[in-house]
Amino acid sequence: MTVKTVSFYTQGCRLNQSETALLEQQFEHHGYSILSSSEVGDVTVINTCTVTENGDTDAKKLVRKALDLNPSTSVALIGCMAQIQKDTLLEWPGVKWVIGNAHKMELPSIIDSHDSLVLTPKMTKESFTLPGNSIDRHHTRANLKVQDGCDFYCSFCVIPFARGPARSREFDDILKEARVLVLAGHRELVLTGVNIGTYQNNGYLFLDIIKALEEIEGLDRIRISSIEPTTIPDELIHHMATSEKLCRHLHIPLQSGTDTVLGLMSRKYTMQEFDHFIQFAHDTVPGLCIGTDVIVGFPGETDELFEETEAYLRESCIDYFHVFSYSERAFARSKKLEGQVESYKISARSKILRDLSQRKRLVFHQEHVGDNLPVLVESFKRDKWTGLTDNYIRVNFESDADLKNQIVVTSILESNPQDVLATL
Ligand code: SF4
Repeated sequence: MTVKTVSFYTQGCRLNQSETALLEQQFEHHGYSILSSSEVGDVTVINTCTVTENGDTDAKKLVRKALDLNPSTSVALIGCMAQIQKDTLLEWPGVKWVIGNAHKMELPSIIDSHDSLVLTPKMTKESFTLPGNSIDRHHTRANLKVQDGCDFYCSFCVIPFARGPARSREFDDILKEARVLVLAGHRELVLTGVNIGTYQNNGYLFLDIIKALEEIEGLDRIRISSIEPTTIPDELIHHMATSEKLCRHLHIPLQSGTDTVLGLMSRKYTMQEFDHFIQFAHDTVPGLCIGTDVIVGFPGETDELFEETEAYLRESCIDYFHVFSYSERAFARSKKLEGQVESYKISARSKILRDLSQRKRLVFHQEHVGDNLPVLVESFKRDKWTGLTDNYIRVNFESDADLKNQIVVTSILESNPQDVLATL
């Protein structure tokens, strides 16, 4: 019997990565052999993203690349872009299945029973469980999905349309998967979702997940992925200050440093509230690393408002930022706003903030020179081992021993713009 082969491409966020890992297992159970990303199988699955215009263009490029490598591959476009753009995607060459977020986990059986299909129903609010687990054969850390969807409707964001309303994973189902991931050798789990701080299931809240995970023997680290500023209780910050397993790392999207633009974005906080919160977190958790996301060129962001954002980011206790250039999305309300910013200004602003982020990250790293910090070792690259500290410093060091997936204490020797160097 010929074994069917499948290859996967994942765009976008951590949530997509964790869902692809889960889907790989579903395909294996259906008798498929999984190919590496440089090969193209009988079926090509592209787990899409639609947060920016680039996601769409990149998906098109991926389809073309897959067909170049294997002209007879059948392509399944699944996830957020599939959900939003629906049957228009079936017109792309090679595309046979367009499956939105509600049914993407059933893809292997869909492929078995339909030569071609578009399936993109709306998602409902009910809590959910997940089949199997997302053991990640490519990474030391594994993503653990706890939540999906969002009800916040920020004006620039298509996620509430692409992923539906906020809903939480059954508490016991989360713990069940966590135990399997730990048994498979994952020592760090990253809690993922769209708006994870809104988690609630059977009376359990987000902090309850963390506390329950801390009880799992063999699990050394729990990391929180991006979390909305208004959803983090003070209690979680106090817990982080004393926990031996919860990483001292928060990624809290700010998006703009001015109340005017935050208002246009329909964000749920003022600058004063945001700053008060991160200052409290910074003061409460020694060594905490705080990251953020910023959008530049949002409609209505004048030169003065951008400068205000830049000044805030420079002075605040934020240690690094991911900078996104605003791009108009069909479903987003911001499309109707006046004061669109020219693209050359967006590029210039983006560069200014990226440079600033690099400088701030370097300062954060330099503050740790001389410290002894545990590192979860990920891989061996260019003659050095590399891994992360709990507070998100990527550390490189030499050793002849095989240290993959070990936690070792390193002494930070030097930090420069390219590297943080340490010794055992
Ligand atoms: S909080 Fe805002 S930006 Fe984040 S997913 Fe929800 S709507 Fe989108």
